[in-house]
Amino acid sequence: MNKVVLITGASRGIGASIAKKMASKNYNIVINYNNSKLKALKLKEEIENQYHVKVLVIKADVSNEDEVKKMIDESIKEFGKLNCLVNNAGLAIDTCFEDKTVQNFQKILNTNLIGPFLTSKYAFKYLEKEENSSIINISSTNGIDTIYSESLDYDASKAGLISLTKNLALQFSPKIRVNSVAPGWVKTDMNNNLDPNFVKEEERKILLERFANPEEIANVVAFLASDEATYINSEVIRVDGGFYS
Ligand code: NAP
Repeated sequence: MNKVVLITGASRGIGASIAKKMASKNYNIVINYNNSKLKALKLKEEIENQYHVKVLVIKADVSNEDEVKKMIDESIKEFGKLNCLVNNAGLAIDTCFEDKTVQNFQKILNTNLIGPFLTSKYAFKYLEKEENSSIINISSTNGIDTIYSESLDYDASKAGLISLTKNLALQFSPKIRVNSVAPGWVKTDMNNNLDPNFVKEEERKILLERFANPEEIANVVAFLASDEATYINSEVIRVDGGFYS
């Protein structure tokens, strides 16, 4: 019987790549989206045609407790179990310091930090029933040591997510492994509006001299979920091409 993975924010970007990669490993997939319904439905079709696994698409705002609870219930109703939860949904609202608002700061924390808390809170009783189950939180090098004042709210949310990873690993031990992947720059919509000169400057700080493709993040997530990673727990894995600021 196929394993089951729920990926938040899987309608596009890194989440969509994780969905495809996990499907290639024969997981049945729960694709969560918030706004991008058409993209989520198109991805479902693509994955089902290519990998012949089952895909369930669920709309839920990860910062809304009722919607998260419903999403977990619906996933269990459809598949009967959950082996892996990937907390990937994320939001950045980059502005200069003067334009930062409490409202936006809270929105970012609610999505990037409270969201993974809520999904973990409602998924854990199903995850703990399965062998080698795990939670993988997509943090960022911005939560470790790359500092950009334009994204100070985002950076704080990602540092918080690393702290949450460690606490949940303790809370759910020894049943569920909880790890974090911390990407550097990745080619997704999130970075579409960057100034090309800024991109060049950043690329010069990366030993591989380029931003990552989303698939290069998905590969690490699939490894962490797999039976090759049964002794990796409470860990943060940087995937940044060798970044030196
Ligand atoms: P992206 O292309 O902007 O996609 C963001 C995804 O998150 C979308 O699928 C979006 O869904 C979903 N999302 C946002 N708010 C949500 C909410 N409240 N509830 C449910 N889903 C929500 O971003 P990405 O680059 O793929 O980023 C994925 C993760 O990697 C994020 O956590 C991000 O912080 C992290 N990350 C990205 C980079 C990078 O350079 N791109 C670097 C480090 C870490 P809808 O479109 O359906 O609303």
